[in-house]
Amino acid sequence: MAGVEGRVIAVTGAGGGLGREYALLLASSGAKVVINDLGGLRDGTGAGTAMADQVADEITKAGGQAVAHYESIATEDGAASLVQTALNAFGSIDGVVNNAGILRDQAFHKMTPDGWESVLQVHLFGSFYVTRAAWPHFREQGHGRIVVATSTSGLFGNFGQANYSAAKNGLVGLINTLAIEGAKYHIMANAVAPIASTRMTADVAPQDILDTIPPGHVAPIVGHLLSDECTDTGMTFVVGGGQAHRVALFQNEGITFDHSLSIAEVTARWSQVTDMSKASLARPPFT
Ligand code: NAD
Repeated sequence: MAGVEGRVIAVTGAGGGLGREYALLLASSGAKVVINDLGGLRDGTGAGTAMADQVADEITKAGGQAVAHYESIATEDGAASLVQTALNAFGSIDGVVNNAGILRDQAFHKMTPDGWESVLQVHLFGSFYVTRAAWPHFREQGHGRIVVATSTSGLFGNFGQANYSAAKNGLVGLINTLAIEGAKYHIMANAVAPIASTRMTADVAPQDILDTIPPGHVAPIVGHLLSDECTDTGMTFVVGGGQAHRVALFQNEGITFDHSLSIAEVTARWSQVTDMSKASLARPPFT
């Protein structure tokens, strides 16, 4: 097969915003798509079937193949039923896009356990539940594609988003390990930090700026990461506004020592520990 042709791909949170763009592009490129969306508000409250139905209808009316799924991926049962929907409708599951997300922004001194847990539950636990449900099928068939939605907030931090940042950076850790465990089964796992105009970003910039970052610009990169041709794994990309970049960890030359240093010795050499002027791509230890 070429591209995503004939592949069965589940997209979470595909009833609007970026997920909808991913689903439309995948379907018009020959994939069979499961359109998951809880149909609630930006903060995760509420639910409904209209959002997922509208996108599934749009695809089928255009001659594509899609089925709607309405359950929350933030529960193990909801995620399992998403994968089961793919199997029932199309006979297999070849890829998952863990895109569903909510916001509960609060400055850290005001952050409640509920605000913390609800955001981690959707982004981090939801991505775990969906991927875990698809994983045995990926292993058995020797093929699988996973894309998670990370964020520049997770990669760099952002005021008021400690919960969201922790979840989004957690997803980078998740794909790093899935890339290692999935390698011999040809399972590729990558992360995309989108920058796009959606309801999630409606109040972060003026409309003339938002007009320069349409969600449709992100979809082809996600499409490539789901394609048969993609052999990259464990990578993170920042994509939006007509640009796509890989981001990665770099490590500097640092210092070496053969005895336990005093605090004063560390302080004296600290500028060498932090100097990144000759840094290179970081590698895991013992490789
Ligand atoms: P969006 O609000 O339009 O889309 C999120 C979708 O997820 C909604 O349709 C919502 O109904 C759905 N959803 C929420 N909780 C769900 C659940 N428990 N089960 C199933 N569906 C659920 O926002 P978006 O901008 O399209 O965001 C898509 C993803 O991209 C999110 O993970 C978001 O954090 C991430 N992201 C977006 C941007 C951006 O610039 N828009 C930047 C960084 C990261």
